[in-house]
Amino acid sequence: MRSIEHFINGSSLSEGTRTGEVWNPSHGEVQATVTLGTPSTLQKAVDAALAAQPAWAATNPQRRARVMFKFKELIEHNMDDLAELLSSEHGKVLADSRGDVQRGLEVIEYCCGIPQALKGEYTQGAGPGIDVYSMRQPLGIGAGITPFNFPAMIPMWMFGMAIACGNAFILKPSERDPSVPVRLAELMKEAGLPDGILNVVHGDKEMVDAILDHPDIAGISFVGSSDIAQYIYSRGTANGKRVQAFGGAKNHGIVMPDADLDQVVTDLTGAAFGSAGERCMALPVVVPVGDDTAAALREKLVPAIEKLKIGISTDPDAHYGPVINEAHKQRVENYIQMCADEGGELVVDGRGFTLQGHEKGFFVGPTLFDHVKPSFRSYREEIFGPVLQIVRADSFDEAVRLPSAHDYGNGVAIFTRNGHAAREFVNRVNVGMVGVNVPIPVPVSYHSFGGWKRSGFGDIGQYGQEGLRFWTKTKVVTQRWPDGTAAGDHKEAFVIPTMG
Ligand code: NAD
Repeated sequence: MRSIEHFINGSSLSEGTRTGEVWNPSHGEVQATVTLGTPSTLQKAVDAALAAQPAWAATNPQRRARVMFKFKELIEHNMDDLAELLSSEHGKVLADSRGDVQRGLEVIEYCCGIPQALKGEYTQGAGPGIDVYSMRQPLGIGAGITPFNFPAMIPMWMFGMAIACGNAFILKPSERDPSVPVRLAELMKEAGLPDGILNVVHGDKEMVDAILDHPDIAGISFVGSSDIAQYIYSRGTANGKRVQAFGGAKNHGIVMPDADLDQVVTDLTGAAFGSAGERCMALPVVVPVGDDTAAALREKLVPAIEKLKIGISTDPDAHYGPVINEAHKQRVENYIQMCADEGGELVVDGRGFTLQGHEKGFFVGPTLFDHVKPSFRSYREEIFGPVLQIVRADSFDEAVRLPSAHDYGNGVAIFTRNGHAAREFVNRVNVGMVGVNVPIPVPVSYHSFGGWKRSGFGDIGQYGQEGLRFWTKTKVVTQRWPDGTAAGDHKEAFVIPTMG
């Protein structure tokens, strides 16, 4: 059986006595094992990073950008192989895996412009003979801890930005689908990245704790579930590190009475059921405003859901594939039971779904609930499966209140033809990323990504300008070059200097 190893200092390294199983969710079979490292494995990665980082930071930004340009070319050349590998371990359909790689690649494209993006600020003549300028310097060693649901995109969000800024990076990917992150590191080496600048260590809590406590790691970026995000944020910052930690989500789609319902249904089915609902920017809650809107929406939604095709990840006609593993399938089905027990009307029940010829695969059929109430636990918590809940609202104000009052605040969307309503909604809603007639408002790479409340701990987003700020320290220099002849050049000053 294939064994997936760490990638340290430009080479594969097998170290650790414990292993994890890597499944093929479409077939319900173990296809590989991953070697789980120890603190000593992490130390090897840190040693390699410490040795390589000063020279990388001193490499001029055009040269760093050239590695990114070459990496982009290699990713494009290897797109199909990466997508196949990703689908085989995650279970999402191939087209969706290509999207996963592509959205990461877009951040790499941003990194190709790093010389322009990293330029500092300069004020000539801030005082008599005084100039002030700022520069961005790398943190040193950064680390990334990533979830299973985007094994290409999220690692690239992190290591692309960190490395382009002059840092060395240690990636601890999800142990459930670790092959693509290793492949990306190999391709970075092929693109010309010096050994030691990008290292991949595998592991679980033991490895994560070692990262959180390591004195030579200056910054940590985390994406995963909220309880773990909060833990990472607390322990990492208590150790004096810079930390950004993004958590779970429960995104709402508000449907106003004037919305184009055919468009809404197309958008909703993709956003609620694509990738089997395993996206932090999925839309698992729909909020029609008014009972007439709810009835009309439901009438169109049910046949659209019944037409969805579930298949193995290589089936080109499948809309979505299996969930990640048996335990998660069970968890999603438990939430379906919970919502029914709480009084939700189970309109379409996806439990007990099996795919002929792939009976061991971890499939869950699409599920629709109506009359879900904000008090339900199944509404308050993240299900992370192909389950859509209709929560009816009586008014626009109530529709703004629901996502605003929810513990999670990652994404939200409003569907309407009324510009005023949309503008009001955008202004008032207490959520970090908003779509107007856009179901999955993941910002493009030159803006920044970040949810609010339990969806994001810390105060700075991923990639774009915010990513740049996260992975660098700003140094501000105030300088004067007196020629020694002017009166006052040698005068003592006992008051706080002002610019006069
Ligand atoms: P997870 O929290 O189980 O795992 C994330 C990472 O944390 C993994 O690398 C894992 O090894 C590590 N980890 C797990 N348990 C740990 C523990 N007890 N101590 C220390 N480290 C631990 O998340 P997941 O199931 O891989 O991913 C799905 C979750 O990620 C969902 O909640 C989803 O909403 C969220 N997510 C959020 C975003 C976002 O940007 N906000 C994006 C993608 C996914």
